[in-house]
Amino acid sequence: MHLDTPTVAFITVLVVCLESGILTALWVIHRGMRGVGHWAAGALVISVGVLGVYLRSDALPSASLVVANLFIIGGYVLTWWGIEAFFERPLPYRFGIAILVVAAVALSYFTATDNSRIRIVVLLACFALLSALRIYSMLRDVRPSTRFSQVLASLALGIHAIYFLALATAIWTLPPVERPLAQVPISGWLFLIPMLLSIAVIFTAILLINQTIAARLQEAARRDALTDALTRRALEEVAETEIARSRRHQTPLSLLLLDIDHFKLVNDQYGHAAGDAALRQFAAAARRCLRREDIFGRLGGEEFCALLPNTAVAGAAQLAERIRQSVADLAVDAGGHRLSLKVSIGVASLGSHGNTWHELVHQADTAMYAAKRAGRNRVIVGGGQTAAAPVA
Ligand code: GH3
Ligand code: MG
Ligand code: MG
Repeated sequence: MHLDTPTVAFITVLVVCLESGILTALWVIHRGMRGVGHWAAGALVISVGVLGVYLRSDALPSASLVVANLFIIGGYVLTWWGIEAFFERPLPYRFGIAILVVAAVALSYFTATDNSRIRIVVLLACFALLSALRIYSMLRDVRPSTRFSQVLASLALGIHAIYFLALATAIWTLPPVERPLAQVPISGWLFLIPMLLSIAVIFTAILLINQTIAARLQEAARRDALTDALTRRALEEVAETEIARSRRHQTPLSLLLLDIDHFKLVNDQYGHAAGDAALRQFAAAARRCLRREDIFGRLGGEEFCALLPNTAVAGAAQLAERIRQSVADLAVDAGGHRLSLKVSIGVASLGSHGNTWHELVHQADTAMYAAKRAGRNRVIVGGGQTAAAPVA
């Protein structure tokens, strides 16, 4: 099929401008998302460069072509930085600028010496290098929630890189002629292939943004907005998994149920906002006592729960006592008022106090109420054993 090169080149200009518009719209919508601004800026710079290449005429000095080409390289550098920013890594400023400087020197030199064959090879090598760098950035940290779009983007960029390298090799092997691109047998396709690939790359960027938002919303729905603890439903889901794992591997698993003592008084005396601040600081203090693998959730109101994998009842009771002590030592700043909190904790372990989530919660709850009846500010293990006597 014959493709008319000027028509394809014109359509390419339209497509890159459209892509730039799409990415700018995405940036406006997702201002808080790091990297999208770099992608929008990159697409804009690339479209200016492509327009420059398209509009160049023999009347213009050849320096304008170098500048237009540098715009395209600069646009690719920006999109590469955008990927690093998107994954919250520091931007490789120096490396990006070094690529631009080397490209500027090489392109100017080969333009000045009228060696357009090597100039185009250098340009294509830069494009291929920047595709490879973007693949590296895309795959450095593959996240389960965005794996699909990360792999798809890398695939599109990989085909891009192979295309640029194949073209560079083809041109390298040509005899020195004035317009080497026109000598390549598929010249009409030269613009079409990277144009289609760039559409694919933009599509994967939109997919990546979508998957990231979906993952963030899902995570937000699992967290309590006030204390960042898991919500009851998320906690129950995790608990089922942990209980199944613990049974399968015959490892211990314990549960702490924490209820702040006389919390209603905090609200009554200092107001609801102060109560909220106290709840936040309580949750933070409790979490500081936990290990990474422990799971902390809010059952509702001022009741919290810690699920402790690989922890037998004795260890759980010790940890509960540490939490009780840390909370008692905490100087809570509740809306300008200094106050202290006390907590009653019930402990239950898989096997000793039940085999299901509901049985465990029931046993820990019974123990927690026993702690309340025994005078509060203490830890009681299911079955009635007091793990630690409170300080009077
Ligand atoms: P006890 O020692 O028996 O547990 O007494 P308590 O006052 O802690 O228990 P009670 O169940 O009577 O009161 C719990 C209080 O927790 C009542 C409610 O206003 C308060 N509360 C529950 N959720 C929140 C919240 O999100 N923010 C604030 N500020 N208060 C809350
Ligand atoms: Mg309470
Ligand atoms: Mg309560």
